[in-house]
Amino acid sequence: MRGFPAAHPSLAGHVVDSPKVKALDDQVRAHRSNWRPLSSSLSEGSGYHGLMTQGQGLSAAQLLTPGQRVRQLANLVNGTTLLGLAVAAAAGAAVSKGPRGLVIASGYRWRIPYAGAFTLGNVVICRIRTEELTSNPALLRHEEKHCSQYAYCLGLPFLPLYFLAAGWSQLRTGNPASANFFERQAGLAAGGYVDIRTPKPAPHGAGGIEV
Ligand SMILES: [Zn+2]
Repeated sequence: MRGFPAAHPSLAGHVVDSPKVKALDDQVRAHRSNWRPLSSSLSEGSGYHGLMTQGQGLSAAQLLTPGQRVRQLANLVNGTTLLGLAVAAAAGAAVSKGPRGLVIASGYRWRIPYAGAFTLGNVVICRIRTEELTSNPALLRHEEKHCSQYAYCLGLPFLPLYFLAAGWSQLRTGNPASANFFERQAGLAAGGYVDIRTPKPAPHGAGGIEV
């Protein structure tokens, strides 16, 4: 913050003895004596730094955005996270706290569903180790999108809607992901799927696969 006299050199240099200016000067001094800097939480644009300083002992990973909190709460209330924890426990998966309010259940061994990773509420259940999942941020983000889909589908209705979308995709493209709204929204490549709806240039202009 720049000082008041420097910002107004003409007042400070020439008419400083005028009674009106003296009165103004007194007011400025009084104002300055009452001035206090804003707390960091108010002066920081996002307020995030304020949270960080107030939440001493909390790491950044433990602080959730409002959206992540809503998702966490929604999937808790709609019961899907509890279902995920129950399935993880029954399957003997190792449960640990993941980032952004997620729960990671690793070492899943049941044959169904036939997937490397899947979600139930905020629980990401995977066959690989936790470190392998967290070191693959694209896959984790993909699974996290499914967690959000549970929340906005109000929990269990996500499952029949997902299977309908997968069936539709199977009919249209021959695989359950390429035309599946939920998988496309989560990101096909990140989920390990090939987008066969994207036409591929073929040699001699014969045309690619198009659905
Ligand atoms: Zn997926």
